[in-house]
Amino acid sequence: MAETTVYLDYNATAPLRPEVLAAMTGAMAEPGNPSSVHAPGRRARRLIEEARIRVAALAGADPRWVNFTSGGTEANNWALTGLGRGPRLVSAAEHDSVLQAAPEARRLAVHADGRVDLEDLQEALADFGAGALVSVMLANNETGVLQPVEAVVELARAAGALVHCDAVQAAGKLPLDMARLGVDCMTLSAHKLGGPPGVGALICRDGVDLKPLLRGGGQESRRRAGTENLPGIAGFGAAAEAARRDLPLMAEIRRLRDRLEEGARAIAPDLRIFGAEAERLANTSCLALPGRSAETQVMALDLAGVAVSAGAACSSGKVQPSHVLAAMGAGPDEAASAIRVSLGWQSGEADVGRFLSAWGDLYRRSRAA
Ligand code: PLP
Repeated sequence: MAETTVYLDYNATAPLRPEVLAAMTGAMAEPGNPSSVHAPGRRARRLIEEARIRVAALAGADPRWVNFTSGGTEANNWALTGLGRGPRLVSAAEHDSVLQAAPEARRLAVHADGRVDLEDLQEALADFGAGALVSVMLANNETGVLQPVEAVVELARAAGALVHCDAVQAAGKLPLDMARLGVDCMTLSAHKLGGPPGVGALICRDGVDLKPLLRGGGQESRRRAGTENLPGIAGFGAAAEAARRDLPLMAEIRRLRDRLEEGARAIAPDLRIFGAEAERLANTSCLALPGRSAETQVMALDLAGVAVSAGAACSSGKVQPSHVLAAMGAGPDEAASAIRVSLGWQSGEADVGRFLSAWGDLYRRSRAA
């Protein structure tokens, strides 16, 4: 067993950043309820409002648009059930927290490179008309493929539809400018940025009709009642600020990811890299090794001290065929042989070397067998 784990599963969860731990520890020591008018209450309120400003800055949004939630899943469910009253159109490559929140939604096709089919969107908008809600993510969690969200917004606007964008994976990996992107609503999650799990945000532009999610208190502009998760929100704010500061590191992460892919191709000429033809996040690689199941690869790599995932690890403990790869036209065997490698703020050259050495051994063993 290797002593130190090489962690290459940032798209599932990024390691907690030290400044986040400090912010959370400080917030946990605060006795006040942010709704109380006394001094401890006001201190707690200030921490929440500071975090709101930092999260808004990461998203390129107005702080007043930020509604804190219990994570990306809640924010996506809220958007899909609480925005507008018309039909829902969702890309077939969305996260399960979008797909399952609107099971009746019209699924938009995606091309083989993972990008949503804009002609299909145009047809669907013509059928469903004004008042529809379109939900298309900014970056895919399994492949890293970036969606043409600006073009989606343009088509949706022309048809009088609203646009929600799940930016959980894009945040901290790409500069975000919600106002420029033009979307009405955006989802973020703290634990993908080096913040704590169990906290996220639904950021909704002024004037958008968002139905309250929880009633029984005035928190979050009366739209999500309940005493705020103060340590989680303070940690989210610290993570958002650190992620924004670290955006320039993405150039180095891209170099490492490209080196990893080059090394993997040199080992396995029959390798397929999903989404490699499209613009992708700098940190993500989805590799299919024909003839070797993803579960076997993940277990063998784990024994060698390398942590990666098979399919959408953040959605379930057990591995199910990937709906994202299926939507891109992958056959069941190819989709079942894909692993996701995702790098982040602590990744370095040695991690890539350890991955390639362990994966190379696995490849040679599978060929010998
Ligand atoms: N959306 C995407 C694209 C994700 O990758 C995830 C990851 O789990 C989520 C939503 C859900 O976020 P959370 O884990 O905060 O519920």
